[in-house]
Amino acid sequence: MMAETRMPLPIEIGRANQFDVKIRWQDGHESVYPARELRLACPCAGCVDEVTGQVRVIATSIPQNVHPLKIDLIGRYAISITWRDGHNTGIYSFEKLRALCPCAKCATPKSDCGSDTCGCQHKASDAPSA
Ligand SMILES: [Zn+2]
Ligand SMILES: [Zn+2]
Repeated sequence: MMAETRMPLPIEIGRANQFDVKIRWQDGHESVYPARELRLACPCAGCVDEVTGQVRVIATSIPQNVHPLKIDLIGRYAISITWRDGHNTGIYSFEKLRALCPCAKCATPKSDCGSDTCGCQHKASDAPSA
């Protein structure tokens, strides 16, 4: 598979604080992910049905104070996170992480997203090239 990747890569992956994961991207964008939201977005087979894509993780079963204990780089495309609640099977691809970026710019509805530096998926896939 030769999927074209125009997606920026992280140049720095760390913590914003005890709870939040911070990623600095090649294009200068910075994403801060609240720990619990990332935990809830875990893409592993235990949390998301592989066939239907339906989320299985039950929000109320995730402690409010969940946070990453360990962040490991997986090759050059993803990270895995070991969580305080013992969960560690999720692999977060950079692509997914970028799509998950909760910042105001990335959360902007696609029709309004006119930024060239925003790497949000909506722009990449939906903007008609005139
Ligand atoms: Zn999971
Ligand atoms: Zn963003």
